[in-house]
Amino acid sequence: MSLAIVGAGLSGLAAAYVLRDTDADVTLFEKSRGVSGRAATRGRGQVRYDHGANHFKIKTDRFGSLVREQLPTDDLVEITGNVWTFEEGGRLQEGDPEKNAEAKWTYRDGVSRLGKHLAEAAGAEIQTETRVTLLARNGDEGNAWTLADAEGREHGPFEAVLLTPPAPQTADLLKAGRLGDDVLQKHLTEALAPASYRTQLTLVLAYRRRVERPDGCYALLNTDGAHEIAWLGFEEEKPGHVPAPGSAGPAPESVLVAQMGPSWSRPRFRSGRGALVPEVTALVGELLNKDVSRPHWADKQGWRYALPEDAADAEALADGAEAGLFFAGDALAGRGRVGAAVESGLDAGERLRQHLERG
Ligand SMILES: Cc1cc2nc3c(=O)[nH]c(=O)nc-3n(C[C@H](O)[C@H](O)[C@H](O)COP(=O)(O)OP(=O)(O)OC[C@H]3O[C@@H](n4cnc5c(N)ncnc54)[C@H](O)[C@@H]3O)c2cc1C
Repeated sequence: MSLAIVGAGLSGLAAAYVLRDTDADVTLFEKSRGVSGRAATRGRGQVRYDHGANHFKIKTDRFGSLVREQLPTDDLVEITGNVWTFEEGGRLQEGDPEKNAEAKWTYRDGVSRLGKHLAEAAGAEIQTETRVTLLARNGDEGNAWTLADAEGREHGPFEAVLLTPPAPQTADLLKAGRLGDDVLQKHLTEALAPASYRTQLTLVLAYRRRVERPDGCYALLNTDGAHEIAWLGFEEEKPGHVPAPGSAGPAPESVLVAQMGPSWSRPRFRSGRGALVPEVTALVGELLNKDVSRPHWADKQGWRYALPEDAADAEALADGAEAGLFFAGDALAGRGRVGAAVESGLDAGERLRQHLERG
């Protein structure tokens, strides 16, 4: 059996991992150059920074067993600093002790290592830089799927397809698709509709000096959603991400990751980095009560679909299985969490495995 997975983020990769020891011929199609999706990392010189997911927590035994027992752990690192909080007025407070007692994880060379480990362990074929633009159901009995990509290439036939992009992008694929069944097409599109996503901009600011913050603080979290900054993290609190002071000549000592809130991000989504940096450094400076106006370098990433605000209707989406259409991703959990995305991919992998067994 041939299976296609659209998206090599954590959910798609987790599904491929479940299918690694079946007879299925699994191909992942990923529009970006690399794997891991929104669990994303970039590098600059000796610095690594997580500009999507900041870290992950392990809240289920299955995800824990995957991370701690099945995938390599030599580069898994715990972030020991605490998350402090602030509200609209910007007064910094020690965070929730219970939440701070939960371990926070990333990898020495960035959180995208989780996706890379999964990709390697899954052993499936991954076609990167391949944006799927069309799904078509065909075959004599309507039981085969073909995909077309943005370059006009056709892929398939596949007996089943797993769709893992954020819900609005998956809905667009369904709407444009040739499913040969209008009722099913409408039913599945409607099932995705509740999962709207927050739009966020990430600004990364690197300094050749240490930017001071409260002792033992790894990040600052806005808890009332009323501040322009949603999250401000310090990458040097993550082992391996920023070279130790003095060890690397002109390398930066502080790398700040500012995740900006949706109402600030939306109107500025298309603005260039040059226009955004002065605004963001002013806001960060005010929050920290420090002058951070002249970063050594800066980076920007826009996330049109950053985090789901609600869950898609997983029960209704399960009705796609009959036609060989499956769904996974954080939209099914209704929460933008690494662990939830992986869990959703593992579930989808199990459903696909049963589909295979039924023939
Ligand atoms: C700014 C930000 C901060 C976050 N912070 C945290 C955090 O601190 N902790 C935490 O646990 N989680 C966090 N998250 C959430 C977490 O990153 C996501 O929930 C998780 O990575 C989602 O995985 P996924 O597989 O569902 O989706 P994705 O990672 O979006 O994977 C879908 C993949 O599909 C690809 N794709 C889309 N359309 C197509 C197409 N047409 N053809 C081919 N490929 C396509 C995409 O490129 C992507 O790689 C954060 C996310 C963001 C954006």
